[in-house]
Amino acid sequence: MGLLDGRKGIVFGVANERSIAWHIARNLIEHGAVCGFSYLPGEKMERRARKTIESGGVTDPWLHPCDVSRDSDLDTLFAAAREQFGTIHFVVHSLAFANKDYLQIGRFVQTPRDVFSQALDISAFTLVGIANRARLLMPDGGSILAMSYYGAEKVIPGYNVMGVAKAALEACTRYLAAELGSQRIRVNTLSAGPCRTLSAMAVGGIDEMFDWVEKKAPLRRNIDTDEVGKTAVYLISELSSGVTGENLYVDAGYNTIGL
Ligand code: NAD
Repeated sequence: MGLLDGRKGIVFGVANERSIAWHIARNLIEHGAVCGFSYLPGEKMERRARKTIESGGVTDPWLHPCDVSRDSDLDTLFAAAREQFGTIHFVVHSLAFANKDYLQIGRFVQTPRDVFSQALDISAFTLVGIANRARLLMPDGGSILAMSYYGAEKVIPGYNVMGVAKAALEACTRYLAAELGSQRIRVNTLSAGPCRTLSAMAVGGIDEMFDWVEKKAPLRRNIDTDEVGKTAVYLISELSSGVTGENLYVDAGYNTIGL
């Protein structure tokens, strides 16, 4: 018996085999879950997402295009998910976006209004838009999980507007958890240490971050993305049935150090 046998859900954010979303999905599937996937519209994006998912042994995955900044795309995706799955038990929100020209050390003060709005819209608001649609497919309750980072709380050089977006994402999580708890829907964030993914490479100074974590984190190493996937199994499954509105760190303990 798998921990997630009979559980179905949608995973947002698989771009390639390095994506945190993929490491999460792989672990959920290993524990018995059925995952549907969304990808940013585009032939190349679809090809890469499909290749990644199929390489994990999933034949003929349910894959749907969705630019989360468009309400119409979200509506279409959730209508298709209702047709495919009927009801769902979980959603993984593992996506973010900010113009990389402003993810450079020393540029936060110059963030233009449109760059700020886009980063907050795609990286934080979409959790609200997704939760509002997902709840209608969760008559038996469920678990919604989003990905955060320590830059939500402390200044991380180069993380800039994305840090502000992650702070908003964590606050959205608490408000959503408070409102959806009566429907037995839990909402949490998982705050991962740096992982070598496409998005991470856009952040200025990322290599220094990896070196610093290795020197200073209690475990004296960076995390493996698979460790994020394993913790996601806990947050999605009934093992965490009493946990909501929380932010759980998977960062080799780095956040506990005041040095
Ligand atoms: P990634 O590049 O593999 O994934 C980012 C995903 O966001 C991609 O699939 C991309 O297509 C998607 N995306 C961006 N804009 C979109 C839009 N408008 N519509 C639909 N999808 C869109 O990188 P990742 O590191 O796996 O990022 C996943 C999540 O993890 C993000 O929220 C990121 O901030 C967070 N995170 C990453 C790290 C890290 O070090 N990599 C650490 C902590 C948190």
